[in-house]
Amino acid sequence: MTQRHAEIAGAGFAGLTAACALAQRGWSVRVHERADQLRTAGAGIYVYENGLRVLEAVGACAAAVAGANPAHRREVRDEADRLISVHQWDANARAFSIVRQRVINALAAAATGAGAEIVTGSHVTGASPDGELVLADGQRLKADLVIGADGSNSRVRDSLGLLAQRRLLPDGAIRLLIEKTAAERASEEGNKTVEYWSGSRRLLYTPCSDTDIYIALTMLDSDLAARRVPLDRAEWTRSFPRLGALIGRFGDEARYDRFEVIRLKRWSAGKVGLIGDAAHALPPNLGQGGGFAMMNALSLAVYLDRSADVADALAHWERDERPRTEHIQRLSVFYGVPTTWPPLARTLFFALAGKWLVRQRRRVAASRPTGTAA
Ligand SMILES: Cc1cc2nc3c(=O)[nH]c(=O)nc-3n(C[C@H](O)[C@H](O)[C@H](O)COP(=O)(O)OP(=O)(O)OC[C@H]3O[C@@H](n4cnc5c(N)ncnc54)[C@H](O)[C@@H]3O)c2cc1C
Repeated sequence: MTQRHAEIAGAGFAGLTAACALAQRGWSVRVHERADQLRTAGAGIYVYENGLRVLEAVGACAAAVAGANPAHRREVRDEADRLISVHQWDANARAFSIVRQRVINALAAAATGAGAEIVTGSHVTGASPDGELVLADGQRLKADLVIGADGSNSRVRDSLGLLAQRRLLPDGAIRLLIEKTAAERASEEGNKTVEYWSGSRRLLYTPCSDTDIYIALTMLDSDLAARRVPLDRAEWTRSFPRLGALIGRFGDEARYDRFEVIRLKRWSAGKVGLIGDAAHALPPNLGQGGGFAMMNALSLAVYLDRSADVADALAHWERDERPRTEHIQRLSVFYGVPTTWPPLARTLFFALAGKWLVRQRRRVAASRPTGTAA
């Protein structure tokens, strides 16, 4: 077979993983990233066994997890710092909290190492099913395969009319990174993952490197005071008075994202495939959006390797991979349903469904992604 060529829109988790996996299988690959640099939001990310296996398969795992924190235990506390519950992750399955930029850098290095080209400042506006990627400057680039990995506002997806459902959920989160203090670096307390609850507001404290702590503040989208960016530190201190010193360290650089669910009519049109949030965004309640973005990027390359007919390979890939992605979407949405409930009803929900949800969550995280070693 002569060398096949792929044009990819978006250099996030999905696009870069696809670039690695295709280039490693002999494709010539070009990735278009609209930003001037490969910079992600200053935040951490949880990556579980399934995502780590994909990173291993594309040769980016060691660099991605260097210095990351194992994330096997999470305490849940109330606003008065009283322990409510402890979530213990399976000791046999890996789980890390990592600085996002480190994962992106590791994937970009693996992609370019395998021969892929990454073009920054390149804005994609659409694609056509016969294998053309359209850029904002009017260029139309011909390829054997086009991939839309351009996130939840995907221009590639929308130019093909593939969106079936985009549902905004009632909650969202502000994410930021802060530097560890010398005391946090040295103490066990400073290296613990803790989620604090106060009404419908949550503050997640996650060490994610030797020097960084990832903070995720979750709230209802209707809670305007809580979701304001730059952050209203006084407002958050009112909810968590015992964490005033910590909240005082939060800087102004932060981003708010509303949670949403995206479903497509089909994951492909002709020679164009959609991956990651562009195809199947889900709320971050189980920390699997990035994991599934990487899984589906790798599996897409595996299916393309099996068939010379791109459209046929994409149809088989979707038939086999879509059901487990939709399962994790449903679970993530279900997990977030009690967010809008009063605290007592919420506690009852987790008392009744909590163990089942944890089992489901572990099963998903431990599942073997297509294209990874048994
Ligand atoms: C609060 C929050 C917490 C989360 N926590 C976790 C977690 O712990 N674990 C986890 O696995 N997932 C988590 N997720 C989900 C995860 O962030 C996403 O699923 C993941 O980023 C999807 O990757 P992607 O590559 O599909 O999209 P993105 O990360 O959005 O990347 C898309 C890329 O495409 C580029 N782009 C966009 N439009 C264009 C264009 N027109 N032309 C060229 N380039 C373009 C963008 O600049 C970007 O670089 C979380 C999400 C949120 C909101």
